[in-house]
Amino acid sequence: MRDHEIIVIYGEQIQNMAYEICRQAGLKEMILGKCSSYEAKIILKPNLLGPVPASEGATTHPEIVEGVIRYLQEAGFRNLSVCEGSWVGDKTNDALLVCGYDTMLKRLGVPFVDLQKDKSRLVDCAGMKIRICEEPLSADFLINLPVMKGHCQTRMTCALKNMKGCIPNPEKRRFHQIGLFEPIGHLSAGLHQDFILTDSICSDLTFEDGGNPVAQNRIFAAVDPVLNDAYCLQLMHLDESEVPYIRIAEQCGVGMADLSRAFVRILKEGAGEDGKVCYENTEAFPERMTHSQMKEKTAGLIHVSELVHEVDSCSACYGRLVPVLRELEDEGVSVERLRGICIGQGFRGKGGRLGIGSCTSGFERSLPGCPPDEEKMKDWLCQLVKKLGDEEKKAGSSGENSLQT
Ligand code: SF4
Repeated sequence: MRDHEIIVIYGEQIQNMAYEICRQAGLKEMILGKCSSYEAKIILKPNLLGPVPASEGATTHPEIVEGVIRYLQEAGFRNLSVCEGSWVGDKTNDALLVCGYDTMLKRLGVPFVDLQKDKSRLVDCAGMKIRICEEPLSADFLINLPVMKGHCQTRMTCALKNMKGCIPNPEKRRFHQIGLFEPIGHLSAGLHQDFILTDSICSDLTFEDGGNPVAQNRIFAAVDPVLNDAYCLQLMHLDESEVPYIRIAEQCGVGMADLSRAFVRILKEGAGEDGKVCYENTEAFPERMTHSQMKEKTAGLIHVSELVHEVDSCSACYGRLVPVLRELEDEGVSVERLRGICIGQGFRGKGGRLGIGSCTSGFERSLPGCPPDEEKMKDWLCQLVKKLGDEEKKAGSSGENSLQT
């Protein structure tokens, strides 16, 4: 596979698609070309941010991981493992079970390394020191298996941001404190990814923790994470100014973002003469979401996120609040009353009116938890809207009374 190439495959047989794209990319030759050995330590890094099944659009389909493992094992590679560290607030092990990885990996005889329990060390990432887990750093060949999806803080997440699962939890919190774009842009300069296979089967194009899956029936492969993410921008109708970490990564020497220099090859699933599934080159670009459809899908979330005052919040915290607000709004709750509600590490030790999470414990009204539980958050906010409504009415009627007297 060439440096500036992207191979896209459309279909419904997910495991076969993953296997075929590895074959089309010449993955075996790439590994032997870099490592010259069938004993090379090959590590696969999916996205298992939390216990959310892949059908919800947030995590990597286990069928993709199985397709890649099957290809590698048939090619003769034996030193394989899968690693991941879920986001702050969820246990990787829960994600492993709910997402169906536990039984699949046992069946295939491939070990799993929980990066939430791994050691880490400081690595120079193009001038920025970042603490990275030891396991992914020890790979001879690192295969990144991200999901192309929306993100409440960075608008989009794919190959570059998926590497954030390879840093320890305190470092994840620090990323949020210093602003996500800069460290995400730098991270891949210190943790090289050799091959990327993006899950774009049914990802949630609005939010990283899923719930609004959109059928896309697509997987694509690249060797350059910057080019891969620039391609995602195009697919998601986003402007590069909305996702600045792609340019930052390019400036750090991670890859190239110029899509006009990319060679995109598209394959489509079909039936061969023998009735078996086959994949053929196609010129036609299968139908995808239009710009206006995309804007329509994200509009509601952008609207409710405008109610929130967020400073350095963790994804797990903010990523729960915005969908909860959207749900409440859909249920007819007057979420407008919550305008100005605060969330994030920037409010630690400060006072205020309404706050979410233990970072806002000094506020008049604050929901405890780090991050707070989603169900509790919904109940608390619902009650809060009612109380604020009652207080408004009371203040209104006492105002009327005082005018009358
Ligand atoms: S309470 Fe603060 S530290 Fe905890 S998850 Fe939320 S923003 Fe992060």
